[in-house]
Amino acid sequence: NQQQPAAEEIIFRSKLPDIDIPNHLPLHSYIFQNISNHADRPCLIDSLSGQILTYADVHLTARRVAAGLDTLGVKQGDVIMLLLPNCPQFVLAFLGASFRGAIATAANPFFTPAEVAKQAKASGSKLVITQSAFADKVRDLAADGKIKVVCVDSAAVPDWCLHFSELTGADEAAAPEVEIESDSVVALPYSSGTTGLPKGVMLTHKGLVTSVAQQVDGENPNLYFHSEDVILCVLPMFHIYALNSIMLCGLRVGAAILIMPKFDVGALLELIQRYRITIAPMVPPVVLSIAKSPDTEKYDLSSIRMLKSGAAPLGKELEDAVRTKFPNARLGQGYGMTEAGPVLSMCLAFAKEPFEIKPGSCGTVVRNAEMKIVDPDTGFSLSRNQPGEICIRGHQIMKGYLNDPESTSRTIDKEGWLHTGDIGFIDDDDELFIVDRLKEIIKYKGFQVAPAELEALLLGHPEISDAAVVGLKDEAAGEIPVAFVVKSDKSELTEDSIKQYVSKQVVFYKRVGKVFFRESIPKAPSGKILRKNLRAELADGVKH
Ligand code: AMP
Repeated sequence: NQQQPAAEEIIFRSKLPDIDIPNHLPLHSYIFQNISNHADRPCLIDSLSGQILTYADVHLTARRVAAGLDTLGVKQGDVIMLLLPNCPQFVLAFLGASFRGAIATAANPFFTPAEVAKQAKASGSKLVITQSAFADKVRDLAADGKIKVVCVDSAAVPDWCLHFSELTGADEAAAPEVEIESDSVVALPYSSGTTGLPKGVMLTHKGLVTSVAQQVDGENPNLYFHSEDVILCVLPMFHIYALNSIMLCGLRVGAAILIMPKFDVGALLELIQRYRITIAPMVPPVVLSIAKSPDTEKYDLSSIRMLKSGAAPLGKELEDAVRTKFPNARLGQGYGMTEAGPVLSMCLAFAKEPFEIKPGSCGTVVRNAEMKIVDPDTGFSLSRNQPGEICIRGHQIMKGYLNDPESTSRTIDKEGWLHTGDIGFIDDDDELFIVDRLKEIIKYKGFQVAPAELEALLLGHPEISDAAVVGLKDEAAGEIPVAFVVKSDKSELTEDSIKQYVSKQVVFYKRVGKVFFRESIPKAPSGKILRKNLRAELADGVKH
């Protein structure tokens, strides 16, 4: 009856030493901790209007928003929804919610009304902050008066909505004093994680402070950003990548954040030249359009010192192609996952003694965190150069999924390890490489598409008896969702009619690119769709 000795865990840490992280502070206190050093410097630059808000402006207005939220009945712990494209008001509303002790859940403004309603209901949102152009999407939700809608436009807003000035015009002194526990939730992005439908990811004050500090604090002031930087924000703020790694990190260091609501390659190149942008966080499809643009030579792009890509894999050819366009830039990848807070690893191009960046590398694990690579079959941790599931542990990871303890315990184990569903390995120089994905999620241009969501829609069609959705590799988008469909008897459904049926109900990046009709969907005895088989069929070139 001898006990087996537990296999020793192989744990990887950052190449840099740990730092002190003041993660007892509420997020807004931490973000503005050093504001006296840069109070009069530009904080938010609106690329549309050219308007600039200084750090002092943003700090004051966010406190006014907190007071205004209180007047409108938003209490500590309440959820407000931000249904906004990138704009300065997004930042003010997010910080205002933090000051109020409330929680912000951001949603894509291009969601269909049904998609918005799902997130608003699941999150229990009490108030929605949006623009008039998107307000109709929440009109039904607001009909019974339980949800208030605030529009941030500079002009008049629909008569059933409130104007943002109701918040920004409040007296900051009237903002109630709130005691914020460090493990209370402040942001609630939605993500499907490793399986199933989108879920609310509870990110706490402590978690976000830890994550931001891991990226920009400590003895390496140039590790990532500094107060002289002008940081491009063209990635959507409703996604945690921009919210954390651009907005919060930029604010913490006192940098200027150049806000662009919509990606357009020509406009972007012009803005780089005009504002002397120094840091350009991107996703692979944006990198691709720049690499392919014939216009790059017309602009002075020499100000860019760092071009960072994340949210999806960046191929070596693309890295090489874009490198030639930015003479002074270092190009490196970061690796994030909403549930991980989100940053797991980053390239150390700007450490005091810069490390060489290898092509395809996602950098090394962030400081004050532990990473291990586990064999998905045995659960044992693996040593260097052996691919397995990437797991991370540290204060930065999510507290859990909102109202979903089952999914939470499937993702974070009893020892506190978050299982990412990504397959990767760590090489002899502590560099992480991602090689595959265990989980079912599809990434279209860095946006999440949950197959389960599209499958549920397809199964809701009276003439579809079974369906499965997987990702098909695509040069421009990374992956596109494609559907395998079993029609019911006598159905005359066509590929086009199914595509249209889906398109009407989802935001553009969840549209199915192809439909393959089949007699049955391959499934394990447990009923689980064998996605691997379907992906293999796609790779072999499936026949209609
Ligand atoms: P999200 O939660 O939307 O940020 O999506 C997270 C997922 O995006 C990760 O679990 C990975 O599958 C993928 N991902 C993020 N960054 C990278 C990267 N640098 N290389 C490859 N895949 C990535």
